[in-house]
Amino acid sequence: MARLGADSLVLVDPRTGATVGELVCTPAGEVAARVAACRAAATAWAARPLEDRIEVVRRLGAALSAKGAELVAVLGAEIGKPPGEAWTSEVVTLGELFDHWLAVIEDELEPTTLDLNPVNYPGKRVEVVPEPLGVIALIMPWNYPVHLPMRTIVPALLAGNGVVFKPSEHAARCGALLAEVFAAVLPADLVVTVQGGPAQGAALVDAGVDKVVFTGSVAGGRAVAARAAGHLIPCALELGSKDAALVLHDAKLPRAVEGVLWGAFHNAGQDCASVERALVDRKVYAPFLEALVARAKELRVGDDVGPLIDERALAKVHAQVQDAVARGARVLCGGEPTGNGYFYPATVVVDVPLDCALWREETFGPVLPVAAFDSEDEAVAMADDSPYGLCVSVWTRDVARGEALARRVRCGVSYVNNCCFSGPMGGASWGGRKQSGYGVTGSSWGLGGLVQPRTVVVDRFFGQKEVWWYPYTPALATMASGLVELARPGGARLSGLARVVGGLVGRWKTS
Ligand code: NAD
Repeated sequence: MARLGADSLVLVDPRTGATVGELVCTPAGEVAARVAACRAAATAWAARPLEDRIEVVRRLGAALSAKGAELVAVLGAEIGKPPGEAWTSEVVTLGELFDHWLAVIEDELEPTTLDLNPVNYPGKRVEVVPEPLGVIALIMPWNYPVHLPMRTIVPALLAGNGVVFKPSEHAARCGALLAEVFAAVLPADLVVTVQGGPAQGAALVDAGVDKVVFTGSVAGGRAVAARAAGHLIPCALELGSKDAALVLHDAKLPRAVEGVLWGAFHNAGQDCASVERALVDRKVYAPFLEALVARAKELRVGDDVGPLIDERALAKVHAQVQDAVARGARVLCGGEPTGNGYFYPATVVVDVPLDCALWREETFGPVLPVAAFDSEDEAVAMADDSPYGLCVSVWTRDVARGEALARRVRCGVSYVNNCCFSGPMGGASWGGRKQSGYGVTGSSWGLGGLVQPRTVVVDRFFGQKEVWWYPYTPALATMASGLVELARPGGARLSGLARVVGGLVGRWKTS
């Protein structure tokens, strides 16, 4: 983590709270020049053949994999990620991300040609060609500081864009390490890194970029979206959530317990897609809860559940728990900061009033409120009763029923018997509804947000004029109404044809 000074970041190890260094911020006044440099590099990059771009991005993937151990070490020192988790969630996932985009990009960027009726449109060819947007501003959070930026950078580069990347102030060392790899592999200034906090983020939005891709809090997203609107530039927002896990009466309980446990407590609960509410069928509520609490007590602070990012986050999480307890909730395990660094133990809470912050607001920490439901309709209604809508998971042996139920919840990602793991997959869409944001990362839908489609119309018909050009005579109207009649389902074909022919003859005579 870091404390943000006027023009530098004081780096702090969240595992101990000790200051470990300092990093100079990019002066906000220099951001526009960085964007201009990126634009020049992006213009040259877009002009290169796609095969060249693919080759360079392939080398970038290899260079990042080779840095795996170093990335894992920085992820530990900077945000306290346990090594096993850092490898699986941030490095292994990169391989899959690159593999996906390198395999599909040629097809994805293939122009589409319209199938035109040669009678209506003689000699014409219409193509829709995806072109790069230009310079993408990438404003990122700290909780997955490697795979989150890369899930946009990889398709953005392949599509021919440049990127100006602002890592979170809390993940500046990780950002600096990524910047080293970019500098070693990519053309100069194609991916530019801007270090700092909200001031640098705001300067970046103002600096003449073509799109903003923002991942972070609702408050940050709202501010960035308002700013982007001022420049009329598009914005994609991946924000927070309060995702529910629905445990049905026929769930395979040991798997549901382990899955919900991991969903709630991995990355110390600091995941936009964490399981933040467990809704359990009353028929299995008691055994589920007993097993969940037993397992949560076994999780080791530090090894299994890393620290929260800073003292403010720790205080906020604990305040939500205390507020719920003051209103009648019961803590079954955890519930108190450990006193070392910014650690908070895995915490399970029941009897939480449904209007408490702990039930309604995002809890960026390892705290899981659990409640019972009596019917599946009630479970869906409870899941949907949230200002957010990123993911849901349903746990059941009846996979078809689980899928139908998971697809009823108003959100962007539905899981059956699993949770939280598909965000880094290049081929899967990721994006939420309601206050979880708008815009998509991943899949063709995400790539669509990184290109500008250009329609190209080429006419090889060298007649003097088109039938719909001047002069506007009654014959034109007769012919056009005939065309509509011919195309209309159940239309009077003969009368339509007569009008088309009569109209064409009339047009021919006037010309
Ligand atoms: P944050 O909003 O505090 O910061 C995110 C980034 O935005 C940082 O780089 C920050 O410097 C910048 N920023 C903040 N305010 C800004 C402003 N007014 N103008 C310009 N830039 C600004 O979020 P955070 O604490 O770093 O991240 C945690 C949040 O991110 C959680 O809410 C989490 O759910 C969300 N998140 C969402 C996803 C997703 O895919 N939906 C993924 C990861 C994290």
